[in-house]
Amino acid sequence: MSAREDAAVVIVGAGPAGMMLSAELALAGVDAVVLERRPDHVLADSRAGGIHARTIELLDQRGVADRFLAEGRTVQAAMFGATTLDMSDFPTRHPYSLGIWQKHIERILAGWIAELGVKVSHGHQVAGFDLDDDGVTVRIAHGGSLRARYLVGCDGGRSVVRKGAGIEFPGWDATRSNLIAEVQLTEQPPSGMRQDARGVHALHPMEDGVTYRVVVTESDLEASGEATLADLRRSLVSVYGTDFGVHTPTWLSRFTDATRQAATYRSGRVLIAGDAAHVHYPAGGQGVGLGLQDAANLGWKLAQVVKGTSPDRLLDTYHAERHPVAARALRYTMAQGALQRSDDRMAALSDVVGQLAVMDEPRRLLAGLVSGLDIRYDLGEGHPLLGRRMPDLDLDTGGGKLRMFELLRSARPVLLHLGAASAPDVAGWVERVQVVEAAYHGRWELPVLGTVDAPTAVLVRPDGYVAWVGEGDDAGLPEALITWFGPGDADGRPGGAIRSEPRRGPTHH
Ligand SMILES: Cc1cc2nc3c(=O)[nH]c(=O)nc-3n(C[C@H](O)[C@H](O)[C@H](O)COP(=O)(O)OP(=O)(O)OC[C@H]3O[C@@H](n4cnc5c(N)ncnc54)[C@H](O)[C@@H]3O)c2cc1C
Repeated sequence: MSAREDAAVVIVGAGPAGMMLSAELALAGVDAVVLERRPDHVLADSRAGGIHARTIELLDQRGVADRFLAEGRTVQAAMFGATTLDMSDFPTRHPYSLGIWQKHIERILAGWIAELGVKVSHGHQVAGFDLDDDGVTVRIAHGGSLRARYLVGCDGGRSVVRKGAGIEFPGWDATRSNLIAEVQLTEQPPSGMRQDARGVHALHPMEDGVTYRVVVTESDLEASGEATLADLRRSLVSVYGTDFGVHTPTWLSRFTDATRQAATYRSGRVLIAGDAAHVHYPAGGQGVGLGLQDAANLGWKLAQVVKGTSPDRLLDTYHAERHPVAARALRYTMAQGALQRSDDRMAALSDVVGQLAVMDEPRRLLAGLVSGLDIRYDLGEGHPLLGRRMPDLDLDTGGGKLRMFELLRSARPVLLHLGAASAPDVAGWVERVQVVEAAYHGRWELPVLGTVDAPTAVLVRPDGYVAWVGEGDDAGLPEALITWFGPGDADGRPGGAIRSEPRRGPTHH
């Protein structure tokens, strides 16, 4: 860090994406500061309802999945529209979705990052930033500024960082508006979800037995404006014929099916992640998981660039890998949103889709998508493992039995050598890459794809995705090591620090 810098990285927003990114940077030993406008980490409302299998795996890779599992409820299925897709046969330690309110997800994340020593400055609203050749100066609304080399906007759908960087946010305008609230009722509401030509409506009792979570689709598109109790009463009456005596709201908000994605996730020294990079209708519960996975993809790359072990262009792979994943998820949420409008014709279509979706191949395809277990980053042609998540294998090592994910706890790359052939040569990267000699006796099975050929070695990135697969020799290994972890050194020492300046992004305006 230079004398003029307050931190190497400033993260704006301590929501799920910002906290996950801060954890990844802390694990990599990079100095980062999180600026959050809220006065503390407590989220008053429940917000999102859970996370899916790949996100649980991601948390498992860091050794914290149990904290979330202990507070939530698992369901061995993924939902598509009204169709329940069984995923009990998926080859993962977590073949389920986890129902857990976002306020608990954020509390657990806040506890974890506190243990990691992350610095979060609450009550700090970012007003904008100024870029120059050496870095970025982040302006705080109530005065003062912070200097850093990189700025990451994890500041939600209305991201000040995205707007300040001049990043376009194209997509589809809202066609429908929902009210969401946590309230008390004087009358008992009907249980379950109601679906009509307008959309879905539901009133569910919450954990305390007193509060109800209400979601109701409005008759008009009210994309802007503060939601009021009068709006909620009116909508309930128009759907149910009564407002159930609704009173004492502790949370009242409005959301729409507006669907947008940032044209680029990176502009020079400025990056965006989570809702700052993509917004969509909440159907299917993709929001939190997408943000956590963005952060896990970006964290180790940004850490290596900040430390000078990798060139700045490594950051371009963040957009290249994560933009297509969210683009696909956005289309899936749009399809789900369409299926939630059930006039008679849409109900007929929904029935047809439902019948097809439970057949084996479509079920696996859709459950793979919803769960995030089918993600494949485009790392070129090769073995089916390449670019896919590394399975959490039970390994036999010289030191005893070990799960693959345990090797990823420290967020460092792993070269797993499984073959009888001589160990791959990683002399120039020994201080960066953990080399593990192990045996694995089970089948190599991937979600959706099924069984694949056993490799003799696998290079796994800190985010748990496979960067290289050995099939009897080291062909392509040095190139993969250089691409993902920077140039090595012929003497077995890590390569010299790379000094490269980031591409200049558009001037801040
Ligand atoms: C009303 C509502 C209901 C939702 N329901 C669901 C659901 O049922 N299921 C689901 O999966 N998802 C749901 N979502 C979406 C889900 O909550 C988001 O996808 C998720 O929170 C995204 O995480 P994030 O970290 O990217 O952004 P956010 O959670 O939005 O976090 C952004 C953080 O940045 C802070 N911030 C913003 N601007 C600034 C600034 N200028 N300076 C400093 N700090 C700033 C904010 O205070 C916030 O803490 C819902 C969202 C809303 C708003």
